[in-house]
Amino acid sequence: MASGMKFQFIGTGGAFDGHLVNSSAVVQLHGRNLLIDCGHSVYPALLKGGWVDRLDAVLVTHLHDDHVGSLSTLLYHRALVTQKPLTIYTQTPDFQQLLRSFLSFAMGQPERFVHFRPLTDLVGAGAIDTFGRHVPQMPTFGFVFQQDGQAIGYSGDLADPDFFFQQLDAQGLRHIRVYHDLSFFPGNGAHAYWGDLARHAGQYDIVGYHHNHLLNPPENPIVLASNLRTER
Ligand SMILES: [Zn+2]
Repeated sequence: MASGMKFQFIGTGGAFDGHLVNSSAVVQLHGRNLLIDCGHSVYPALLKGGWVDRLDAVLVTHLHDDHVGSLSTLLYHRALVTQKPLTIYTQTPDFQQLLRSFLSFAMGQPERFVHFRPLTDLVGAGAIDTFGRHVPQMPTFGFVFQQDGQAIGYSGDLADPDFFFQQLDAQGLRHIRVYHDLSFFPGNGAHAYWGDLARHAGQYDIVGYHHNHLLNPPENPIVLASNLRTER
């Protein structure tokens, strides 16, 4: 197998696109398969794709149902069926606490079924704190992955179309592939509108996700994740 980072979407749909799998992806970083998000339609898709036993760890952008709705089922599967509990890498101690209490409603004591570790333990992965920029007062995060001089950005759900790029800029990351949530509705308030994202398309290799791609207007210059043929 070729070395280097690999990235593959499990689903690219938005919260209300019931005919699509929720936005979720697997990043292969230093040979380990990291699942980003596990919304309500993701566990069945992971099963179908043969992914469940091939995952090494999970990252979570935020606690909306289309990003964590089947997370406890996946964690139970790995702990009880596969008997190889997953690790969840968490961005901050506060977010780990929030995730633990969220999971406790479905799992009692989640630490019996999953290992929690800080994201700083994961070589090549970093978080971008996007608190309140998707939904007011809600903890949300994007991610940056780096390996062998290659870098990938993943916005998570983010309404501010400029913020993620400012953060990447501040880290000296330019001309990289950025997976960014992309909405076809201007002023929707929760996701970046394609027309605003397009301003960054000259500097970054942007791929949009988290929407119903059938609504894509022909004048949108940004590549959609659903149209990607090759993984990267
Ligand atoms: Zn969300």
